[in-house]
Amino acid sequence: MSILSKPWFHDEKAAFAKLEAILWPEGPTCPHCGSAAKHYDLAKTRLGLRKCAEKECRKQFTVRVGTVFESSHIPLHKWFQAVHLMCSSKKGISAHQLHRVLEVTYKTAWFMAHRIREAMRSGGLAPMGGNGGIVEVDETFIGKKKGVKVERGYAHKHAVMTLVDRQGEARSFHVSNVRANTLVPIIRKNIARETRIATDEAVQYNDLKFHFEEHQSVHHASEEWARGPIHTNTVEGYFSIFKRGMKGVYQHCSEKHLHRYLAEFDFRYNNRSALGVEDEQRATQALKGATGKRLTYTVARPQPQI
Ligand SMILES: [Zn+2]
Repeated sequence: MSILSKPWFHDEKAAFAKLEAILWPEGPTCPHCGSAAKHYDLAKTRLGLRKCAEKECRKQFTVRVGTVFESSHIPLHKWFQAVHLMCSSKKGISAHQLHRVLEVTYKTAWFMAHRIREAMRSGGLAPMGGNGGIVEVDETFIGKKKGVKVERGYAHKHAVMTLVDRQGEARSFHVSNVRANTLVPIIRKNIARETRIATDEAVQYNDLKFHFEEHQSVHHASEEWARGPIHTNTVEGYFSIFKRGMKGVYQHCSEKHLHRYLAEFDFRYNNRSALGVEDEQRATQALKGATGKRLTYTVARPQPQI
């Protein structure tokens, strides 16, 4: 026996039961009118099918309706396999590999991966930090912008800014540039005022001292990496996993989809073993996020096969 022997990876009925248990802990809820009061079980007609008993509604539904798994021809148990693979691979898993393992077309695998990224995307609206906690802020550059000449420096690359709360959460943003007037508003919006901020010496962070309890920086140019608790090692550790994944696994990523990959790496970081979240719980977390989101084919059009 192994984790892959679990019935919901093979048996469609077990997969439905599993997803229902995750998304409907209080029992079935009609996605059309929100009623959890009463419904008819039509499982004899079609697996997982139910009908709302509310007079004004009376619509049919399954647990897939209103989730990223809606209107997909892929059986739910294959979705469970895909979610598990994406949640348990620290640097991600390519659409090519999903295509081979799941025995679906490359195009289907690509689209499944993007829908799962959508499920992993968190609202992330509550401010990070607070109570004198430390949040590290740093930026990195990745890939290559379309139609921009490769030269020295970073002008031809995509810029990413990440905020990492030492207590746990990471939040990443694909930004158009790394100037103060781009970065500071995002930092202010996402970090509580009563927070200590740690950055490197980059000038775009100079004004943070006016907006937060404290701002300290380490001077990387003069080889200062840490001064007591002031360092950016945590956020750099995050970037190292992100970059190894983007280079080693995904290889190509268009500007349009970069934010989805960032959501994937943020999700795994925020649900990591060090915080007591193991593979199976991480997959459950991703499945919980599947609800209330849709991703249409026109939004996420597959990249040509490489
Ligand atoms: Zn209803």
